[in-house]
Amino acid sequence: MTNSFPIAFEKRMQQRLGKEFDVFKEKHQTPSPTSIRMHTLKEGNTNLPIDEKISWTESGYYLKERPSFTLDPVFHAGAYYVQEASSMFLEQALKQSVDLTASLRVLDLCAAPGGKSTHLLNLISEDALLISNEVIRSRASILSENIQKWGSANVVVTNNDPEHFQKLSGFFDVMVVDAPCSGEGLFRKDAAAMNEWSEDNVALCSQRQRRILSDVWPALKENGILIYCTCTFSEEENENNLAWMSSGHDVEFIELAVASFPGIETIRKEGTVGYRFYPHNVNGEGFFISVMRKKNTQQPVRARGKKVFNTPSKKVLEQLDHWVKSSKQFRFLQQDDLILMLPALHYEEIEFLSQQLHIVSKGTAVAEVKHEKLIPEHAFALSVHLDRSHFKVIDLTLEQALAYLRKENLMLAEGERGFALVAYQNYPIGWVNLLGNRINNLYPSSWRIRMSS
Ligand code: SAM
Repeated sequence: MTNSFPIAFEKRMQQRLGKEFDVFKEKHQTPSPTSIRMHTLKEGNTNLPIDEKISWTESGYYLKERPSFTLDPVFHAGAYYVQEASSMFLEQALKQSVDLTASLRVLDLCAAPGGKSTHLLNLISEDALLISNEVIRSRASILSENIQKWGSANVVVTNNDPEHFQKLSGFFDVMVVDAPCSGEGLFRKDAAAMNEWSEDNVALCSQRQRRILSDVWPALKENGILIYCTCTFSEEENENNLAWMSSGHDVEFIELAVASFPGIETIRKEGTVGYRFYPHNVNGEGFFISVMRKKNTQQPVRARGKKVFNTPSKKVLEQLDHWVKSSKQFRFLQQDDLILMLPALHYEEIEFLSQQLHIVSKGTAVAEVKHEKLIPEHAFALSVHLDRSHFKVIDLTLEQALAYLRKENLMLAEGERGFALVAYQNYPIGWVNLLGNRINNLYPSSWRIRMSS
């Protein structure tokens, strides 16, 4: 950390932490741990410098050092997500409060760039549906890209303001509100964040968080679970907001078993409970999380709308049948020339949602149709539902994989024709079109990496 703490922040933390403050401050002079979370449904090999497992998640690891993720093709295969360790505690919050085998409707309200959403997709059942929302348009595009890389079909990315969810009365079983905050917990990782800090900004964030919570609350079912989290320490944005929720809403706070995770502090205030993570007490950044259950009745919306989705032709559907594993679990729709796959179980709900929300992407884009022939979409190469046995798979060396990701011409001695998957360490990274004497690199131009080795 090069900058020093803002004076008013230092005073607050001194008051709160007393003698512990010096340890807290010293910890800010040490580097932040680098951590990743592995995709639980993709299989292959990684060269990551894995160190210890993160105790509160099944799939998170600290790394011994920070590699260049851009130059790791496995990263581009969506095989892992680079994520701060404390925020992976979401896994405990969910496992301890929700039946994750159920066909849940889950909303991640403040979702970009996608850390919690990709985690949620590995925690919920394939029968569940995730709505991953981000209000800022440019950030919603990044979110959609990260969701595509993750390769799940049971997800819809939306670009809506929290208040737009009020139309969906009692629709969701679970909501995650990872609220925009003053970011005090990230000062070690991003010293520049200190320049944005002020007492006024803390107050502003707190007011905004209350507005977000009250806007979205009607969309939660009776007995539904809302997980509230921030990456800040201030009482105004954490326990005071919980107390405010408790005073104006019929809500029950859920106790989490944290004894086996030393260093996490339990915060109680006016009948509420939350959990605070300090970087000097846990191996991660600052974080706060609380789980609440909605007790008041909420009349659920009738999730039926007009039929607006178009089914592809029979000939197209027959081809798709071979492309997708367990294809009966999905329904396909055609939007102009694009074929998308959606979970059959949620097809009508998604059709309904498409008339209520601003949808950025839904399910998985499988192919583009040209004269009833299918050209595979990049997102489908990264899909966990792709039937690999139907396609030729070409294993690339590291050098070839990086050339592919830079969208350079590939020199592969092939001679065959047709679409083929290219893979690195067993993870598919995209498509090529084999043209006999040459190869077309189908990697999306906008995703091309520009870094040299
Ligand atoms: N959940 C994300 C993850 O794990 O990758 C991080 C979310 S970040 C803490 C908070 C998000 O809230 C940002 O993407 C920000 O754009 C969004 N946001 C900002 N203002 C908002 C508002 N008024 N309502 C809802 N979301 C907002």
